[in-house]
Amino acid sequence: MKNKCFCCEKNLKNECNKPLSACYDAVAFDSNGNFGSSIFDPFEIDARIMIHICDSCLKKKAKLVCYHQQKTIKQIENLQTFDKKLKKDELAEKKRDSFTKKVLERLRNQKHKSRKNIHREC
Ligand SMILES: [Zn+2]
Repeated sequence: MKNKCFCCEKNLKNECNKPLSACYDAVAFDSNGNFGSSIFDPFEIDARIMIHICDSCLKKKAKLVCYHQQKTIKQIENLQTFDKKLKKDELAEKKRDSFTKKVLERLRNQKHKSRKNIHREC
């Protein structure tokens, strides 16, 4: 059984070619069913289904994905749609990149100035 994206059905690569192993560029969704489902609400406690969705499809449908952080069964925080979480992450990454560039630029300038001072002393 090959791992394929649940949405676009493209083949997904994984490390050891086993059906339940982690895939590259995809997220696995594993469920033990749902009480309200008419097709998968098993009595067996160990029965599970799993699907993979490639990163590209997940990003395309991010508005339909619920994101949250679950501290305990009852304590759910930061409930939002996944597209908003992705946008926040992108902004944070841009800020980090901008900060890193500024720091690197300062270090280069300091290095350049200190070289000039060394040359003046010679
Ligand atoms: Zn896909």
